[in-house]
Formats: sequence, structure tokens, C-alpha cells
Amino acid sequence: MEDRFGHRISYLRVSITDRCNERCNYCMPRELQEWLPREEILRYEETVRLIRIAADLGVTKVRVTGGEPLTRRGVVDFVRQIPAIPGISSVGISTNGTLLGRGIDILPMGPALKAHATMAQTLRAAGVQSINVSLDTLDRERYAQITGRDFHPQVLAGIDAAIAAGFDQIKLNAVLMRGRNEDQLIPLIEFAGERNLILRFIELMPVSTTEVLTEENFLPIAEAKRAIESRYGGLIPEPSFRTNGPATYYQISGRDQRIGFIGAMTNLHFCESCNKLRLTCDGKLRPCLGSYLEFDIMKPLRAGASDDELRQFFIDVVDRKPEQHDFRDNYQPDRKMIAIGG
Ligand code: SAM
Ligand code: SF4
Repeated sequence: MEDRFGHRISYLRVSITDRCNERCNYCMPRELQEWLPREEILRYEETVRLIRIAADLGVTKVRVTGGEPLTRRGVVDFVRQIPAIPGISSVGISTNGTLLGRGIDILPMGPALKAHATMAQTLRAAGVQSINVSLDTLDRERYAQITGRDFHPQVLAGIDAAIAAGFDQIKLNAVLMRGRNEDQLIPLIEFAGERNLILRFIELMPVSTTEVLTEENFLPIAEAKRAIESRYGGLIPEPSFRTNGPATYYQISGRDQRIGFIGAMTNLHFCESCNKLRLTCDGKLRPCLGSYLEFDIMKPLRAGASDDELRQFFIDVVDRKPEQHDFRDNYQPDRKMIAIGG
């Protein structure tokens, strides 16, 4: 699938729930905290069918997200089906990390041999190759203020569990907020460096209500880079290193450590290499996170559409993909980030 601007669509972000066990203020402001009814959420078999159709059309990478994807029952059995879809070569999960270290019972060889594994191990065994964990601060109190929950110890345990599970890639994502975590840039870099993880800093985006992004709390990538350079010396660009998304990567000079920046607001080239399409948990295809456009594929799916008809639906949505996002025009979507799937 290719859009009108030559973007080849190979990456599908699949949100499986709008629910979450945290309450990050930039993602789900207090007045928007209500969940969709179950029947409005795609069933796993419906989601798998749509991924298969996307794979027929050239999607090779899938990232499962939410809300918090690990809160949905049956998530492991769901993700296990994705690597088996012809054409899919990479499966990842974005998570707040709170549940990665939780022990779950598995029945590897029947009830007689019940064993205990962490959620991270179970996901790894189900074929998940990469995990992105959100971590905005190493300060427990601040973490509770940002996320509305005192789950910092669980997240750290979750990161340890992910490391122990042996994923191909683990990334940490930190949303930059002035007054909230600008003092955390260096501690987070040290934390990631010690564990050999890739850390990425994300600019705050206007994806919920107007209060989320203000002049006062916006911390641009350029300023974060300057602070990091004044501590470590130069950041050496690595244009040839890319993951699936729009991050740009740098080596910290004198250290064997890579960090990334996702600057949707200030990087004017942000959309040039976009390869992404999103499926929301309530069955909408969104050609761009930063645009009002979304198309209800659940309706034809539940009305009995054939695979050919659904394939055409995907093609038509990709054809409507905008050249770039509308974030810089003070964009406010009709729905919050948690219901889109970040
Ligand atoms: N619950 C999972 C998590 O927190 O990683 C997955 C879903 S979450 C919506 C995906 C990512 O979007 C997280 O890294 C989160 O920090 C980011 N995010 C949410 N709201 C954002 C905003 N307003 N601006 C920038 N990033 C945001
Ligand atoms: Fe939940 Fe992730 Fe949104 Fe935080 S960013 S409220 S953890 S979905």
C-alpha cells in the first residue's frame, strides 16, 4: 500500500483497549475517564482478521498498544497469533510496564506441569520481539503525580522482567514536560545506559484536551538536546539507524549509548518517512495520529464484508492519508490519546 505522497505503509499500530490501570494526565484527563462498552471493542478474532488483511497489502510490522494492552484479558493468546500471519515479520508491544513483571501460571505440558512465568516471559514466548515501556521519571513521587498511580516500583520490576525475558529490543519512552521531568533527562539516560536500553524522548502532543499542551509545559527536543550535550558533549546523529517510527537517533559521544527523539511538534520533516496506519480498539482506521480523519471498518466487518472488500477499504483509507499531521495548527482531536492508541 502506498499513499499519494509515496509513503509505503508497512507498519500497523493496533490498539486493543481504551482501558488503562494508570491515569497519565497528558493522555487521559480527568473529565474524559470513561470506557467504551465491550460490544464496541473489536473482538480478538476480528482484529486478527484485519491484521491478516493489512499483511496481504504489505504490512510487515505490528505494534500492539492501547490504553494499556496488558490489562485486556487474553492478550497473550491474541499476540501469539500475529507472528503466524503470513507477511508479518515483527511484533511489538507498547506498555506502561506495570504488569510485565507479574507472575502468571502457564500450563506448558498439561495441568500436571504447571509452571510460573512473568508476563514478559510469556509475551516473549508468544513471539513478541520488541517492547516499548513508558517511563517519564525515576522519581517515585513524581511518577505518581504524572500517572495518577503509585506504580513506579512495579514498572522498574517490569523493566527487569523484560530484560530477563530476552526481547530483541527494549525501548524506554519518556514524554518531555517542562516543570515535570526536565531534571530527569540525565538520570533517565544513566538508567537506560546501565541496562543497555534505547531511551527516546517524546515531545508532548496535543492529543486530548487544551490543558495538556501549554506554552509553559512544552519542552522542545532542541532544548533537551542542549541540556544533554552540556552534560555529555556532542550528540552524533545516526541517520542510518531507524526503528519503525519517526524517531531520529544519536550516539552520545564517548559512550556506547544510543538515544532517540520524537519531535512531532518541532521536527518539520517528521512526516516525511511515515509508514504507519492505526487501528483503534473500536474499529476505526486512522491514517494519521495528528488528523481528524478516521474510517469505521468495524461496520463493514460486522456487516459481513468479504476480504476483498476489506482490502479495498484499507486501500481507500491509505489513499486519504494526509501529507503531514495538523499538530502545529493547535490540533485537538475529537478523542483522547488513550482511545486512539498511542
Ligand atoms: N499504555 C501504554 C504506554 O503508556 O506506553 C501504551 C499506550 S500510550 C497511549 C503510548 C505512548 O503514548 C506512551 O509512551 C505515552 O507516553 C504516549 N503519550 C500519551 N499521551 C501523549 C501526549 N499527549 N503526547 C505525547 N505522547 C503521549
Ligand atoms: Fe495509560 Fe499509557 Fe495513557 Fe498512561 S500513556 S494513561 S499508561 S495508556
